[in-house]
Amino acid sequence: MGSLDDAVALIGQARRIAIVAHSSPDQDAIGSLLGLGLALETVGKRVALLCDDPVPRLLRFLPGSDRVHSALPADFTPDLLVSLDSSDTDRLGRVAQPLLEGGIPVLNVDHHVTNVNYGTVNLVEDRASAAEVLLPLLDALAIPLTRDVATCLLAGVVGDTRSFSTANVTADTLTAAVRLVEAGADLAYVTEMALNRCTVNALHVWGLGLSALQLEDGVLWTAIPLESRRRMGLVGVGSNKLSSMLIGAVEANVAAVFEEQPGDQVEISFRARPGYEVASLALSLGGGGHPLAAGCTLEGSLDEVVQRVVGLLKAQVAQPTGEEG
Ligand code: 5GP
Ligand code: MN
Repeated sequence: MGSLDDAVALIGQARRIAIVAHSSPDQDAIGSLLGLGLALETVGKRVALLCDDPVPRLLRFLPGSDRVHSALPADFTPDLLVSLDSSDTDRLGRVAQPLLEGGIPVLNVDHHVTNVNYGTVNLVEDRASAAEVLLPLLDALAIPLTRDVATCLLAGVVGDTRSFSTANVTADTLTAAVRLVEAGADLAYVTEMALNRCTVNALHVWGLGLSALQLEDGVLWTAIPLESRRRMGLVGVGSNKLSSMLIGAVEANVAAVFEEQPGDQVEISFRARPGYEVASLALSLGGGGHPLAAGCTLEGSLDEVVQRVVGLLKAQVAQPTGEEG
C-alpha cells in the first residue's frame, strides 16, 4: 500500500483527530491546519486544531482561525494525530509532545525534503506547499471542497510559493490552484490578505535588518539584536520573510537573517538563489526546509552564532549545486 492509501486508512478509522501545525506558523501551516480541519468536519470527524503559537493577526481572516488552540481541550481524547508542514517533531512545539508519546498513530503530512519521517504513516511529497499535499488526500477520502476549505488551502499555496513565483512551482501546483479557485476561493483576495499585507511594526523590523546588511563572498546577511527590538517595542514581531527580499540582491548567492530571541536563542532564515542550496546546512544545524528556503534555531549569543554560521555559508557558496533550481 502506498502512503496515500495508508493515510486514508488511518483517517478512515479515526473519530477524534488532533491536528498540529508547526510553531511560528506561516500561511501554509495555518491554511493547511484549517483546511484539513474544516474538511474532516464535513464528513463527521471531530477535530482539535492545535498550534503552539497563536494564529498571526493577518491570517485571522481565514475561516476557522478562531478555533486554533495551544492546548488540547480537556474533553478531547484524540485517536489520531496529524502533523502538518513540519519536517521534525521539535518544530511541532510543546503542544504536540504528549500526543507524540501518547501511543496513538501519527500521520505526518509534509512537503520538506528534510522530513525525517517521524510518523506512523508519512505522506511526505516534494511539493511547493503542504496544502498541495492535502488536496489528493481529500480527493482520496472523497471529501468535496467547500469554499472555506479551498480558501484556507489556497492561502497555503500562495504563501509558500510567494504567489506562484518560487522555483518549486510545477504544473501540479497550478492545477491545484485552479481547483481551489473553481471551488470558490478568491485568488486576488487571498493573495492580498495572506501575502501582500504586513504591519508597520514588521516594516520597522525590516528597517533594523536592512540597516545592518553585510556582504562577503556572495553571502548577504543581517542580524537583529534583541536589544534594538526592545528599544523600539518590537519584541515578538517577526522579520516576515526579509530573507526572501535579500536573496533578490544580484550580489548574493545565499542570504541569511539572524534574529536574536529571548533565552539565548537565535532564529535563522536562509535563502539561496538557484544553483545553490541551504536545506542541507539547515538540516545539519537541527532545522530544515527546502533547497532554496530553509531555517533553524540555534543556542548561543548572536555574535557567536553569526560568526559560525556565516563561515558555514561561505563554505556552502564555494560549492554550487550545478543545478538551476
Ligand atoms: P522561513 O525562512 O520562510 O521562515 O522558512 C523557510 C523554510 O524553512 C520553511 O519551509 C520552514 O518551514 C523551514 N524552517 C524554518 N525554520 C525551521 C526550523 O527551525 N526547523 C525546521 N525543521 N524547518 C524550518
Ligand atoms: Mn510549507
